[in-house]
Order: sequence, then structure tokens, then C-alpha cells
Amino acid sequence: IDAPDIPQTPLTPEERAALIAALAWSLEAGVDETLCDAPVDRFAETAAAEAAARARAETRAAARAPRGKRARDAASAAPKTPVAPQITPAAAAADLAAKAQDLDALRDALDGFDRCPLRPGAKNTVFADGVRGARLMIVGEAPGRDEDREGRPFVGRSGQLLDRMLHAIGMSRTAEEAAQGVYITNLSPWRPLENRAPSTDEAAMLLPFLRRHVELAAPEVLLLMGNAPWKALMETEVGITRARGKWVEVLGVPAMPSFHPAFLLRQPARKREAWADLQQVRDRLAALPGA
Ligand code: URA
Repeated sequence: IDAPDIPQTPLTPEERAALIAALAWSLEAGVDETLCDAPVDRFAETAAAEAAARARAETRAAARAPRGKRARDAASAAPKTPVAPQITPAAAAADLAAKAQDLDALRDALDGFDRCPLRPGAKNTVFADGVRGARLMIVGEAPGRDEDREGRPFVGRSGQLLDRMLHAIGMSRTAEEAAQGVYITNLSPWRPLENRAPSTDEAAMLLPFLRRHVELAAPEVLLLMGNAPWKALMETEVGITRARGKWVEVLGVPAMPSFHPAFLLRQPARKREAWADLQQVRDRLAALPGA
């Protein structure tokens, strides 16, 4: 708008304000460079390339097929293929997740899952960060803009607060030893635009992946940060404010629900409760046989 060498069309204050608002909206939506006038959906491009490859393969197969009467005879003799029933996204997710035998396979399965509406708006599938085999696993909500850009969970302001909180109990996602290490993931690997929480339907289709993630990571203790992972894993409508601070079990693993670091940045007075929850996590880990 203020570039001196570009011929300027005079703008009214309203036009200028509208342009600035549009720019701010684009930044918020994750745009960080301008390449062309129209958006490009790379996921759709991949899907189109796969569909084109399938169509070419079908055309080749049809060209090789017998013609005329022989073809009709072959068609009527062929067993009728039953039409596959439409499988729901949650059932498709459960099937893919169950087949994953290790964390890399689970990451690949998530990468290949194209039924979640959050996915097309995201730059990266944000799978996990930290120490594999760690005794403590943290589950957050979903990547924000920084996480989406870097492909790692909790790297923005909430992540910095989380790192300081973990440091206070002698743990870290970069620890050399699994005993002090932390493994971090989110309910959603894809950033919801407008930084909203995943919807109930989205959470339901992501849940099988998260449950399998917990099984494969096999932590001794879970820390659930914020409403989204807590409500999804416990299948409850009780909010985190009432739930926090009280141990529950998730897939046989003791789990502590607590406030999300982003909430603590907005409400620093609630840090005292989060600190009490973290101390419980530290004490529980110290009391377990693996300590
Ligand atoms: N908030 C989350 O819940 N997860 C992240 O990775 C970043 C912010």
C-alpha cells in the first residue's frame, strides 16, 4: 500500500481500512507469502493426480478387455461385486489407526487420512514432538499458526510457557534421558482456521488416532491440557475447570486434566491451580515403579 515505486491509485480511508483488514485476515488464515492471485489447494492437486492415474489404469485395462460377444459373456459370467457401504470418517480413522503398529506407521496413517475437514486448511500434519519412550505424555488441543508453519506442536507462546512449566518440575521435551523427557502431541494434527477448537465431529474422527497414539507411546502418566483433549478422551461434557486436578484413567494410564497454557496466558491468576496439577504429576511419576 505504501510502496513508493508502484503508481498509486488514491484510496479513500474506507478502502484503505478494508484492504488492511483483508491483509490481516489473510495473515490470520496462515498466508505468509503471495505467489498468485488465486489460492492453490495442494491436497486437491494430489487427489486429482491420483484420480487421473486411476482413470488411466482403468482405460488401459478396458483396452485389454475382450470385445463383442466375448465381452458380454465375460461380463454376465463375472460375479457381481457388492457395492461397498459408505464407511464413516470415524470408522475409517479407527480402521487406519488400529493397523498402525508403531509411531511412524501411525504418523503415516494420519498423513494419508483425507476425511477430516481441518486438513485442507493446514500446511502441515503436526504429529508430535519430544522424547519417544518418555514417561510423561502431554496432549493439547490443536496446532496454532506457529505450529502449523513449523510442523511441531507447542512452539508458539503457549509452548514457551509449557516448556517453562515442565522445567519447573525437572522435565523437558529435549531431555537426553527418557526419565526426564516429555512426549507432546495434540488432539488434532491440523490447525483449525480461526484458531477455534475442533468441532465434536472432528474430535470424534480424530479420537481413534489419539487413542492409538497413547497406546503406542505407552506413557506412564498423561497430562491433558484444556477442554478439547479432556472432553474427547473422556467422552464427557464436563468442563476442564471442574475436572482439573483430579486423576482419571485413559486406556489404563493415569491422566491429569489441567488448564491449557493459552488459557493461563490469558488468566495468569489460574497458574496457581496449574502448578498444583503439575506437582501432582511430578509426585505420581516419582511414586511409580519406573522412577
Ligand atoms: N495449542 C495447542 O493445544 N497445541 C499446540 O500445539 C499449540 C497451541
